[in-house]
Amino acid sequence: MPILSFSDLAEECNKQNKSIYEIAQEQESVLLEDTVDVVRLRVLEDLLAMKDAVKNGLHSTEKSISGWCGDDCAKLIERYNHRRALFGKTFEKIITYALATAEENLRMGRIAACPTAGSCGIVPSAIIAVAEEEKITEAEQINGLLTAGFIGLLISNKVQLAGAVAGCQAECGVASAMAAGAVCQILGGDTNQILQAASLALKNILGLTCDPVCGLVEVPCIKRNAFLAIHAVTAAELALCGVESKIPLDEIVDTLKITGQLMSPLLKETSLGGLAKTKTAQELEKKLFKNKKMTI
Ligand code: SF4
Repeated sequence: MPILSFSDLAEECNKQNKSIYEIAQEQESVLLEDTVDVVRLRVLEDLLAMKDAVKNGLHSTEKSISGWCGDDCAKLIERYNHRRALFGKTFEKIITYALATAEENLRMGRIAACPTAGSCGIVPSAIIAVAEEEKITEAEQINGLLTAGFIGLLISNKVQLAGAVAGCQAECGVASAMAAGAVCQILGGDTNQILQAASLALKNILGLTCDPVCGLVEVPCIKRNAFLAIHAVTAAELALCGVESKIPLDEIVDTLKITGQLMSPLLKETSLGGLAKTKTAQELEKKLFKNKKMTI
């Protein structure tokens, strides 16, 4: 049966006694007309690209063309060389890796859009940091990434994953739902817990606007990746403890779509409202065009 919704997915997992990642890799192998092993190799390539982006981001302080961003990850590294983060090593790694990846993106480095470039730090930082600290095998990390991918795919069947269409809830918000599902998977969650994790993450980020200063994917995008990676792991922890969303995931996705339709165009990547229209943002914009002689 075609899987078009999360309720279809839960039903199919139950009927076939399979995990979400098993259904995902089988469906992908049919689409690619290749074996499940080849699908998993492709996902491994994505995982390795994510790890490279983190590694490169950790070693660079090169600023973006605007000069506004690019050295925040280094500030975290400097602090954590001397003291541990309040919530421990996993927390420290998640926020550091999220900034490392998002800063690589602004330098035009190679990242894996997941689901978009602006939200590229959320899924990788959550999977990689949790895997390192919890000694999760590479095969299990692939299972996590397959789970994240399938969650993103089913949401994208209903809503276009673009800030210009539905605000940042459709980019960083969806990335957070994907990461929550992935973390839940790699920590041993069952199908219901994985879908609950995604639900909890997504419903608590509904309404997030897209208002990048000067139209650049820098402010507020980069730091937002660190916040929403932690948001994702919080959702996974809640779900693993048995906390459930009263509203099912399919209805949350419908709500995301409607919320995006209700959102003013000023708050959907036009940079005509929100943070992009603050006094400081306008001053930054003026300086940028004066100094860099940039055009858009
Ligand atoms: S604020 Fe807009 S541009 Fe920035 S990450 Fe979110 S959706 Fe993308």
